[in-house]
Amino acid sequence: MRQLGEGGMGQVWQAQDETLGRNVAVKVISLLAGDGSRGDEARARFLREARITAQLQHPNIVTIHDLGETGAGNERVPFLVMELIRGEGLDAMLRRGTVTLADAARWGAQVCDALAEAHAAGIMHRDIKPSNILITPSGTVKVLDFGIARAADPYATADRLTQTGFIVGTPPYMAPEQARGFPEPRSDLYALGCLLFELITGQLPFQAPDTVGYLSAHLTQEPPTPSSVSIGVPSAWDELVLRLLEKDPDQRYPNATDLSQALRHLDRAPEPAKGPAPPAGGATQPPSMTATAPLPPVPPTRRACSLPPRPDTASTHTPASRGRATRFVLPVCLWLLLTLLAVGSYDIGIPVALALTWVLTAVLTPRSTSLMRGTGYAAVAAIPVNLVMLAIHYWDHLFSGRLPFFMVVVLTIAAYCYRDIKTRRAASSSST
Ligand code: ATP
Ligand code: MG
Repeated sequence: MRQLGEGGMGQVWQAQDETLGRNVAVKVISLLAGDGSRGDEARARFLREARITAQLQHPNIVTIHDLGETGAGNERVPFLVMELIRGEGLDAMLRRGTVTLADAARWGAQVCDALAEAHAAGIMHRDIKPSNILITPSGTVKVLDFGIARAADPYATADRLTQTGFIVGTPPYMAPEQARGFPEPRSDLYALGCLLFELITGQLPFQAPDTVGYLSAHLTQEPPTPSSVSIGVPSAWDELVLRLLEKDPDQRYPNATDLSQALRHLDRAPEPAKGPAPPAGGATQPPSMTATAPLPPVPPTRRACSLPPRPDTASTHTPASRGRATRFVLPVCLWLLLTLLAVGSYDIGIPVALALTWVLTAVLTPRSTSLMRGTGYAAVAAIPVNLVMLAIHYWDHLFSGRLPFFMVVVLTIAAYCYRDIKTRRAASSSST
């Protein structure tokens, strides 16, 4: 009836099952179209493997209704018929930027339930990524394409996953051992770690220009802590995600069931007490679920953070967070001085306006909506305009009694801008 989307293996169509009179989704694996014995062999293997994954029955796994082949000769192509999910893919949701921490915990836990069921049946997903996860209007997760990536691998043989260097999976989400050609169930947990990272920060753990860049990053680079990428991510999330992104599968959660419990624990955890918010920092839009709940112990492996800590996350206790805090010192001291100088006069409006502006600039983060960002930028732009107007207004007194006050205003703003520029520059250089 209409095309729902297109991926690396082929297209997905909405179609009607005329016998049962219901709408279904049909995935046409055009990657395996073609003639000749090699094509026949690959298609036969696809049907064999897809039949195994079609056995999976779980509320969080899309139901496969049918499998088959259509066309003739060069046009021969395998397809699978599945339940049509009315919902939105996580890829689309990420583009809209509307995912909250609570959503990430709830959805992540349901993905784990699906993985636990499949792993118990000896089936790995191998391609956990946003477009393979749909969320129904009632909030239920449906995981798509279980084992299909491997089944549709035209180069796979019965005993070896890849024969000619063709790696199954999607590079930005691929576990190091999967990149080496030896996936195992905990490779799915690694991919889920990348996905959770993306859901809570709006960014992938590793940025790379191409497949080789991604694979080498997964194999060799330490991921940044999510809270260093996005303001307001609680330390419990940092621990959980970094544990999933361990290079060594033994250091990750042992199985999807344990991870599911940890995610549900995060979902239920109470709001942490808020610490004093320095004016120059700021949290991003308040996460709908923040927590520093205890998690199962994390193995004491090195977790170097390739991104420098941002000044805006207040609730962690790592050496990195101490570095973060020291960047506040100068702007905060200057701001306090400014407030002292202004107390009891109309000038008090200036430190108040600065504090409000800084809170607004704190929303200039990847997790904020464009409306919030727009408001923040407008507020930042208003500072110099205000300053110029004030300077003109007080011009006669500028070089008499009011000069120290104006100097402190300028210094405070300069210190804040310096802190901000330094942080952003360091963040962008380490992410390239
Ligand atoms: P890949 O081929 O690597 O899996 P992909 O996941 O981006 O890449 P497809 O699996 O072909 O692409 O899916 C294309 C789109 O079709 C997805 O974005 C998904 O939202 C949609 N889709 C897939 N299966 C269904 C389904 N059963 N019901 C509704 N929409 C679906
Ligand atoms: Mg897919």
